Amino acid sequence: MTRYSIASLVRNAFSGHRNWQPTWRSPEPREAYDIIVVGGGGHGLATAHYLAKVHGITNVAVIEKGWIGGGNVGRNTTIIRSNYMLDGNEPFYEWSLKLWEGLEQDVNYNAMVSQRGVLNLFHSDAQRDAAARRGNTMRLYGADAELLDRDAVRKLCPFLDFDNGRFPIQGGLLQARGGSARHDAVAWGYAHAASARGVDIIQNCEVKGFLRDASGSVVGVETTRGAIRAGKVGIAVAGHSGHVAAMADVRLPIESHVLQAFVSEAVKPIIPGVVTFGAAHFYISQSDKGGLVFGGDVDGYNSYAQRGNLPIVEDTCESAMAMVPMVGRSRLLRSWGGVMDMSMDGSPIIDHSPVEGLYLNAGWCYGGFKATPASGWCFAHLLATDRSHDVAKAYRLDRFITGEIIDEKGQGPQPNLH
Ligand code: FAD
Repeated sequence: MTRYSIASLVRNAFSGHRNWQPTWRSPEPREAYDIIVVGGGGHGLATAHYLAKVHGITNVAVIEKGWIGGGNVGRNTTIIRSNYMLDGNEPFYEWSLKLWEGLEQDVNYNAMVSQRGVLNLFHSDAQRDAAARRGNTMRLYGADAELLDRDAVRKLCPFLDFDNGRFPIQGGLLQARGGSARHDAVAWGYAHAASARGVDIIQNCEVKGFLRDASGSVVGVETTRGAIRAGKVGIAVAGHSGHVAAMADVRLPIESHVLQAFVSEAVKPIIPGVVTFGAAHFYISQSDKGGLVFGGDVDGYNSYAQRGNLPIVEDTCESAMAMVPMVGRSRLLRSWGGVMDMSMDGSPIIDHSPVEGLYLNAGWCYGGFKATPASGWCFAHLLATDRSHDVAKAYRLDRFITGEIIDEKGQGPQPNLH
């Protein structure tokens, strides 16, 4: 069902668009809420939506210092997939992919979810073994995975450099249900659905500190628009997790790094899905407009600047030329950066914080877009019930003390995918 009929489109075209209904409400903040979610990115908005829809908790505010879609949710390269291997990760990401598959109907918003496939190339016998093992594990968890040989990959992607002297392509692991989604529309869709259920979305409102009671519990937030009280406060601020948690004297095992991405001028459809290089940190897909969308590794130093640097541009383009040389013939349209919350094992945290009343959703590194639905679902579960959701129970903060880390290629600081 579309929100606007043809008649309303025509009427608004002639009335100078004065009658459009905003996609979400922009109310003044109330004095108090049951739950405040700090951060109006994909994760914060999804949390609010599922709090309202699944748990019936609607006295909720999402507090965003900038504008909806201005953070990483609108800066990523839009890849969604569930090709993980470890126990702590695969059920969570497969649940996320299932939620992606029903997302547009759930929030009644076109997020352009497109299951066009994610192909991870391998270049050696050892990498083939690892890909086979990963694929088998995925299938055990109910996900789809197909090991392709060199000929099958050539049929799918004839434009790759199969005989590259250093990294000849031997095959790939395909997840056909993986693909992409229009990133900022995901934020708009969740904002629209949460707002319709009564959640207040407060933009241009920065959290500058936390209200504490005599016992030290968090009982609200100090913002640039005044103090707002809350029964519980959840942080979902991605690259600013360390900074915001520090306002409550919580030190997180997280560093902030910039990740860049690039888009070329539009060309005719050529790249069928997402393709990742197995020999260096590089991946590429094609947008619906025709631009080649690609990216590489994070910047090597900590930063909160939302822009990148030339060594990574050079490194990414070098990998592009090794894997798909035709990229060198297209002109680069633009590049941009976002601030990543890099956890020390590459996996996220969805947990209570050491401070009563304060809850954490952080450490998504450069793979948090695909996690958006499940992250929101599980954070809402934690906030509503005070218990971890089954598929997120490994994402504990104390694993960095106990040593039960979830160190998996594919999400963390190791080269592979986004
Ligand atoms: P954000 O959208 O950043 O939301 C956090 C919000 O918190 C921001 O809007 C910010 O303004 C707000 N905030 C911060 N501090 C405060 C404060 N004090 N008060 C109030 N609000 C505050 N992931 C994938 O799965 N697939 C990909 O292909 C992929 N590619 C990427 C490519 C790039 C270039 C980048 C930058 C990231 C990529 N990611 C990808 C990672 C993914 O985008 C992030 O992990 C994810 O978006 C983070 O969650 P979020 O959407 O909630 O973050």
